[in-house]
Amino acid sequence: MDLLVNVAQLLKEPVGATRTIEVNGPELELDGAEPAFVRGTIVLTRTDIGLWASGDVAVSTAGECSRCLVPFTSWADVRVDDIFLPKVDLVTGARILPEFDPDADAESIDDHHVLDLTATMREYRLAAMPLAPLCRDDCEGLCPHCGTDRNETACACEPELDPRWATLRELLT
Ligand SMILES: [Zn+2]
Ligand SMILES: [Zn+2]
Repeated sequence: MDLLVNVAQLLKEPVGATRTIEVNGPELELDGAEPAFVRGTIVLTRTDIGLWASGDVAVSTAGECSRCLVPFTSWADVRVDDIFLPKVDLVTGARILPEFDPDADAESIDDHHVLDLTATMREYRLAAMPLAPLCRDDCEGLCPHCGTDRNETACACEPELDPRWATLRELLT
C-alpha cells in the first residue's frame, strides 16, 4: 500500500470508523538523497471534521557517519499523529472554506478525496534525522591528522591535545 489513500468511502462513514493502512516500501523520493523506506501501520479514524491518522512507523534515514564518513542507513521510530481535513464536502460537493478549519495546521485531503501522506512522512523523516549521525555509538572516527579510519587501524599520530593546553605546552618548550 502506498502513501496515497482514497478516503471517499471512509469520509461517508460515521465518526469512529477506521481504515488500517500497512505501509512497507521505498515510499519517499527525496531531493539529493537516497529514497527513504517507511514501514508500519497507520490507522485512519473518521472524526467529526475529517480524519485522524495515528500509528507507529519506522522511517529509514540514509546518510554518512559524522565521525568516520562511512555511508549507512538507520531506522527511526516515528509516532504518527495528524489531522486531515477534506477541502470539499463529500455529500454536497461544496468547498469547505479554510476559515472553517479549526486547526490551521491541519493537512488537507484533495478534491478527489485522496489523502496523500507523503509530505507528512517526509516531515517526520526530517524530524527523525539525527544532526550528527553515528554508524555506532563508539565510532572512533577519522584521525584529524592523517585521515586514517581509527575503527580499522590505529595510526601513529599523537592524540589530540585540548587546545587550552597548547599555550602551556609552548611555554614549556
Ligand atoms: Zn562512524
Ligand atoms: Zn593519524
